[in-house]
Amino acid sequence: MSKEIFIVVGAGQAGLQICTALRASGFEGRLILIGEESSLPYQRPPLSKEFLLGELDPERLLYRKPEYFEKLSVELTLDDAVEKLDASRCTISLRSGRTLKYSKLALATGARVRALRCVGSDSPDVYYIRTLADSLNLRERLQTAKSMVVVGGGFIGLETGAMACKMGKKVSVVEASERLMKRAISPELSEYYLSLHSEKGVDVRVGCEVSHLEQHQHGLTVVPKTGESISADIVLVGIGVVPNSEIAESAGLECANGILVNEKCLTSDANIVAAGDCTMHQNQFLEKTVRLESIQNAVDQAKVAASSMLGGNQTYDQVPWFWSDQYDVTLQIAGVSRSYDNHVRLCGKNENSFSFFYFRGNELLGVDSINHPVMHMAARKILQRKIGDGASILKSMTVDEIAAFSKAKPTVSP
Ligand SMILES: Cc1cc2nc3c(=O)[nH]c(=O)nc-3n(C[C@H](O)[C@H](O)[C@H](O)COP(=O)(O)OP(=O)(O)OC[C@H]3O[C@@H](n4cnc5c(N)ncnc54)[C@H](O)[C@@H]3O)c2cc1C
Repeated sequence: MSKEIFIVVGAGQAGLQICTALRASGFEGRLILIGEESSLPYQRPPLSKEFLLGELDPERLLYRKPEYFEKLSVELTLDDAVEKLDASRCTISLRSGRTLKYSKLALATGARVRALRCVGSDSPDVYYIRTLADSLNLRERLQTAKSMVVVGGGFIGLETGAMACKMGKKVSVVEASERLMKRAISPELSEYYLSLHSEKGVDVRVGCEVSHLEQHQHGLTVVPKTGESISADIVLVGIGVVPNSEIAESAGLECANGILVNEKCLTSDANIVAAGDCTMHQNQFLEKTVRLESIQNAVDQAKVAASSMLGGNQTYDQVPWFWSDQYDVTLQIAGVSRSYDNHVRLCGKNENSFSFFYFRGNELLGVDSINHPVMHMAARKILQRKIGDGASILKSMTVDEIAAFSKAKPTVSP
């Protein structure tokens, strides 16, 4: 039996995956998982989707039942947070007063919501969604609220807006930039989503920045810097997240909008790895330093982080992918639609099913699929071949080759 003590901080997606991967790789030492929330690790994606309808029990979100952690001999400490890391002594200190020594440490502390800071934003009628508790609060309020203004036209705001709309609420969306989900999707798709939400009756205003909020007896008025004010019972803010990297920063680990990790998910301290939303890494596929906020990134980085804790040589080189559900439309993203100079639209079985392939010259950069899961899975396979083993076989894939691959007829967009 190994005498080593591995500690994982953060009982979320990445933290759970690190524990699972460590045991699957034969680690026999003590394994401690510490989480600030009181719940066992659970799925966050449904929190802004079907969970809001109120039909799903919170237990259904749990990735694993308590027996799983017993079986894996994972010592769980929930409802307690790591407040201090002393990397020179290899110790962590918990809010409860305990100090623990580690042989290897994994930081999987995720991210927290970025707060809207303006006059009125501290109103109790302002909601956010990051945790199960947040989503439970909102879903309870949605039982009686008749109207909601969503501040932020990103994934979480739009998914929540779509659910509220489905529940018969009057929904408005205000987005500061000139188009929806600008950070992640192409202008063509932003346009598609603008029409989709508008057709469902949502009042979507882009290029509309919030100035302040005014509290009334029954709700709030969102006052934009320009344009008409909007009143509603509640406001949902979805303006991004900030990484939970403070304990790493105070311990002297290199950080820059997240904990910096290399391709083996090692931090600037050889005994400490990090994975998931709290990390910043040089992404081989995107060819830039990024902080990805996705299940794919959390899971794949966690596997690599676990390998590094055991002295392995796995590296992180996965194609980024993501999904979003809004109404009856599932968007699946593979790769990236940034800095492309031409794109091709391939149709699926009906007009509500299609994919955009984005190219720089002849090089395929990314594929966005709308209700087109078959093409999304194919795209991930195609794109993955650009990196990793036997790299660059498919560095340049032409429009015709893509079309032949999918056996579909391409429509080349201008
Ligand atoms: C509403 C919502 C919808 C989403 N939808 C999608 C989707 O459709 N598709 C997709 O790919 N991704 C989606 N995501 C993103 C995805 O859930 C995250 O990328 C993923 O959960 C990141 O995993 P993580 O382990 O890095 O962080 P988390 O899952 O956030 O886990 C981190 C955990 O660490 C804990 N922690 C933080 N600091 C400490 C500390 N000091 N001590 C102890 N514990 C600590 C936190 O409380 C938290 O429980 C969504 C996220 C949200 C919030």
